[in-house]
Amino acid sequence: MNENFRLFLTQELESLNQKGLKRQMRILDGAQDAHVYIDGKEYLNFCSNNYLGLANHKRLKMAAIEEIKANGVGAGASRLVCGTLKVHQLLEEKIAQFKGAESCLIFNTGYMANVGIISSLFDTNDIIFCDKFNHASIIDGIMLSGAKLKRYPHGDMSALEEMLRKETGCRKRVIITDSVFSMDGDMAPLDKIVFLAKKYDCLVMIDEAHALGVLGKNGKGAAEYFGVEKDIDIQMGTLSKAVGSLGAYVCGSKDLISFLINRARSFIYTTALPTSVIAAASEGLDIIQTDSLLRKELWNKTFFLYNNLRKMGFDLLNTQTPIIPILVKDAVKAVKFSQRLFEKGILISAIRPPTVPPHTARLRLTVMATHTQQELEKLLDVLERIGQELCLI
Ligand SMILES: *Cc1c(COP(=O)(O)O)cnc(C)c1O
Repeated sequence: MNENFRLFLTQELESLNQKGLKRQMRILDGAQDAHVYIDGKEYLNFCSNNYLGLANHKRLKMAAIEEIKANGVGAGASRLVCGTLKVHQLLEEKIAQFKGAESCLIFNTGYMANVGIISSLFDTNDIIFCDKFNHASIIDGIMLSGAKLKRYPHGDMSALEEMLRKETGCRKRVIITDSVFSMDGDMAPLDKIVFLAKKYDCLVMIDEAHALGVLGKNGKGAAEYFGVEKDIDIQMGTLSKAVGSLGAYVCGSKDLISFLINRARSFIYTTALPTSVIAAASEGLDIIQTDSLLRKELWNKTFFLYNNLRKMGFDLLNTQTPIIPILVKDAVKAVKFSQRLFEKGILISAIRPPTVPPHTARLRLTVMATHTQQELEKLLDVLERIGQELCLI
């Protein structure tokens, strides 16, 4: 290997390692579920986005298997060439109907959706107002678009208003925000954002990755929770989290969807999702629409954990959802916390910069509807003991 290149890699990795920022993958032996197996040992899983336990649900598995039997495995081509099967179209119609939108388009992942939507709709003549804590895929979409980027402090509506007042004279202006912030678990104040957007004649795009199936009376997401569904121009969300499968959707006007079909490169230049993945997502959405009990379970467990963790003295930031950050600050300590939990049979990963701002390393605990009360109590007990050991409480 080229000597300089070899040295570059070694030095970069060593530097990450010294800062406690080197990342490694854990390999699960079996399914993604409330319990997982690693090297033959069982762990309680408190770090997946599989909020409703649908990723390994019998009905989703059956739907995928039946679909493979009927229509095979690969889609064989991109959507625009000949990779669109009836199943893709039916799911797009189902999502549009569920969200009360004119039209819907599926992307292969949430990452690809954000990159494709933002980079095709906006360019150097436009300006994008972006919450500081927005997901990396939104930032990458903006970078690729070349639009002027104005980042406002997390959730700070007066800072946003100030920017909206000052930054005029662009062709298009848009506010883009996660509706639930993936590492903090708080919600964007969509009611206020929509109000400001109207006042300053600005578009709104939201990313409902962690809200679909979790928030709103019918599980439609944060837009439903805030009652602003009709006021949001571009509604994006994923099928990979609560829905339990893979993929993403964008809902909006017929023209928006036609535009994206013609211009979004991450939609155009990639093979369509396998229909088994689509069938599983469709089944997951059916469960979300018909079984509100699962959502209720998820929230009961979330409140139980919040209340107890707060009582113990942990700093949970401003979480409002089943994503519960436990602030540690120091990255090395966060990794140690996670390792100590692992020794006790509990899986919660440490989240470190650059995923979160410097000095805000944390554990990111996520609740699932399928965790038992006994498991929650075990978790609390272990968290309290290790939290004391590490002087966090
Ligand atoms: C997970 C996530 C994505 C990416 O979705 P994938 O389907 O995993 O690619 C996008 N936005 C937010 C806010 C997310 O949390």
